[in-house]
Amino acid sequence: MPGHLSMEEVYRHACEVIPGGVNSPVRAFGSVGGTPVFLASASGPHVVDIEGREYVDLVCSWGPALLGHAHPEVVAAVQDAATRGLSFGAPTTAEVQLAELIRGRVPAAEKVRFVSTGTEATMTALRIARGATGRDVIVKFAGCYHGHSDALLAEAGSGVATAGLPGSAGVTKASAGDTIVLPYNDVAALEAVFAERGSEIACVISEAAPANMGIVTPLPGFNEAIRRITAAHGALMILDEVLTGFRVGPSGWWGLEAGVQNPTYTPDLFAFGKVVGGGMPLAGLGGPAALMDLLAPVGPVYQAGTLSGNPLATAAGIATLTLADAAAYAQVDAASLTVQRALADALDAVGVPHRIQTAGNLFSVFFGEDAAARGVATYSDAKAADTFRYPPFFHAMLDAGVALPPSVFEAWFLSAAHDDAALNRIAEALPSAARAAASATR
Ligand SMILES: *Cc1c(COP(=O)(O)O)cnc(C)c1O
Repeated sequence: MPGHLSMEEVYRHACEVIPGGVNSPVRAFGSVGGTPVFLASASGPHVVDIEGREYVDLVCSWGPALLGHAHPEVVAAVQDAATRGLSFGAPTTAEVQLAELIRGRVPAAEKVRFVSTGTEATMTALRIARGATGRDVIVKFAGCYHGHSDALLAEAGSGVATAGLPGSAGVTKASAGDTIVLPYNDVAALEAVFAERGSEIACVISEAAPANMGIVTPLPGFNEAIRRITAAHGALMILDEVLTGFRVGPSGWWGLEAGVQNPTYTPDLFAFGKVVGGGMPLAGLGGPAALMDLLAPVGPVYQAGTLSGNPLATAAGIATLTLADAAAYAQVDAASLTVQRALADALDAVGVPHRIQTAGNLFSVFFGEDAAARGVATYSDAKAADTFRYPPFFHAMLDAGVALPPSVFEAWFLSAAHDDAALNRIAEALPSAARAAASATR
């Protein structure tokens, strides 16, 4: 039984039956080294490993745990749904309710189609864009992660960045050839590619605020420029809010940046995931009826899913969005600011040059003189930072009972359950971790 085995033994056994011992690469601690921590349970701001050690968690399931882990009302909603059946393969009124909750927050998502993963959401959005325009080419930005579908793996951040890979084996030349990758925050590059190939381009897809190469805040006007240029060439704009949606604010990054009333820009399609499923496998895409009705059974763009709109996942999503009120977002924002300040103070105290970049309550730290002086606007900037300082920093935090994301290219996630006790534990752990970062060598 796991309880009788050390973490190393469990990991070794896991590697015998699961590739790399994990079901999503970044969990393997590849870029920070050491043995991945196998978890047994989680509650509020904490996760507990199989040896019974408790950590303050700054991963929050990579975002979904906005309200903290195992929020009693979310768990009760799922338990209640479970007693009525796990999956029907037929429509339910709860799906309608969740679609309405989303539309209430993001009015441009007039219609929503639910899927089980963010990967499916962006993949389906691309298919709609290609179906709507009759064009093949898609444009994405280096360092943006949109899930692991073939067309979107080129220069994807997240686990691909962590593993230092340019892309992925197993993606056909044809698929890769239809994807144009541009530097993020570079309006001139976007204009140039549209000037040259505008009539071939179906869409531009971008993270609303990139959070998978560390946080790279869009420069003012960048998302508006994507909107303007795509519209001028009859291409669609897909805003990937899988990570930011319903996390950085009630209406996601789009709501923060564009404003919900008279927005400064509105994409054609949104992709949602993570928070919208409240910790269960649920994601979705939304947009105006004219585009969304291109999907089967109304239109010719096929998409389907056995577990799509699954009743348990839908119940978790409804409960989470219902509980995620202004007070909850204020708590997450305040907790995030507290940790950002403590982090900056600890690094300043030992003279580690750094830059903390934010997108609402999401943030990440980039080490190094260049990052500190100029900030990080692109994937190349992110990769050029002093990434070698992160592994010892990460492990010092872990040893002190704080679980950070196991990659410098990932965001730090707070929740509404990160109370003073949890925030104090983080603050107490930071000084020694900062010293570890200071003495790190390349
Ligand atoms: C996590 C993520 C995805 C993929 O979602 P999965 O549910 O892991 O497939 C897509 N886009 C962004 C921006 C993400 O952060």
